[in-house]
Amino acid sequence: MSIDWQQQLCNNIKSVDDLIKTTANEKLRTVFSSHANQQFKIKIPTGFLSNLSDIENDPLLKQVLPHANETQLTEGYLHDPVGDMDAMATPGLIHKYKNRVLFIVTGACAIHCRYCFRRHFPYSDAQINKENWEPAFNYLREHSEISEIILSGGDPLMVSNEKLNYLIQQLEQIEHIKRLRIHTRIPSVLPERIDSELISILQNSRFLVSLVTHINHANELNESNKGVFKQLKQSEIQLLNQSVLLANVNNQAKILIELSEKLYEYGILPYYLHLLDPVQGAAHFFVKEADAISLMDEIRQGLPGYLMPNLVKEIAGEQAKTRIL
Ligand SMILES: *Cc1c(COP(=O)(O)O)cnc(C)c1O
Ligand code: SF4
Repeated sequence: MSIDWQQQLCNNIKSVDDLIKTTANEKLRTVFSSHANQQFKIKIPTGFLSNLSDIENDPLLKQVLPHANETQLTEGYLHDPVGDMDAMATPGLIHKYKNRVLFIVTGACAIHCRYCFRRHFPYSDAQINKENWEPAFNYLREHSEISEIILSGGDPLMVSNEKLNYLIQQLEQIEHIKRLRIHTRIPSVLPERIDSELISILQNSRFLVSLVTHINHANELNESNKGVFKQLKQSEIQLLNQSVLLANVNNQAKILIELSEKLYEYGILPYYLHLLDPVQGAAHFFVKEADAISLMDEIRQGLPGYLMPNLVKEIAGEQAKTRIL
């Protein structure tokens, strides 16, 4: 059954030729940067580009197309802007905030987002695998203040149901852990992955389960993934969304309002709107804090309070994400 999504992954766009074949647009060859692609390889599920609006200026394509801008060095932009390497408790376990901990299940993703703050992350050292699994569980057993586990990555849903089930079962044996959260971009970009087996694993868990999607633009929600969100919702999994504020992708009030409304239509509540982390190679996506604040003031007029995301940024060393008011 899980063959479906794995096969789907094999059909991912992995080269400029695949990209041109899928979009039937030869012009993209001139925009595509091989140099940027060497730094962080193109990877796009074909379905993600099925609703391109305007190929020259598409808000989805911009998130995934290797561009020459990425290769410009920008002062103040770092390789590990959020200090994750310093907060590693055991390999793959990032304990920065008091009672919740990030569990890096895998470094793999179904899609490569050009602005990603983990694009330089040394995943092969950091991800949890069978050998360093136990130290992570021991650490969690010893830290009774931890009440929530956040499965992250990469994308934690890239691993098989079998592995995920094993992991959840191990975590369930640790009594002080009450909540399980999954940070994933997969439900919208590779909906085939959300199979019935996965849903039943989550549904049968003793944890209160929430799933935090990563959707930046209303066009990422469409008939191809609508059913999956409905199913998750019906399984009493809390659906939340985090977006990244990205220049020329979603930094307009109209676009952000449409995003919140569409998320709600799909059963998802807006949670965070992140200011971009200053990762080397992503400076062209940056939106200034002052501009972000004006945008928030503008969208507040057009959205009910419960559809307002929290504008936040991550400051290395802080005890929580910093709210920007
Ligand atoms: C974002 C993050 C969390 C979760 O923070 P919330 O405010 O609870 O969403 C936990 N740990 C790390 C390391 C994080 O970056
Ligand atoms: S970790 Fe998230 S933002 Fe980064 S490439 Fe993977 S899916 Fe995209």
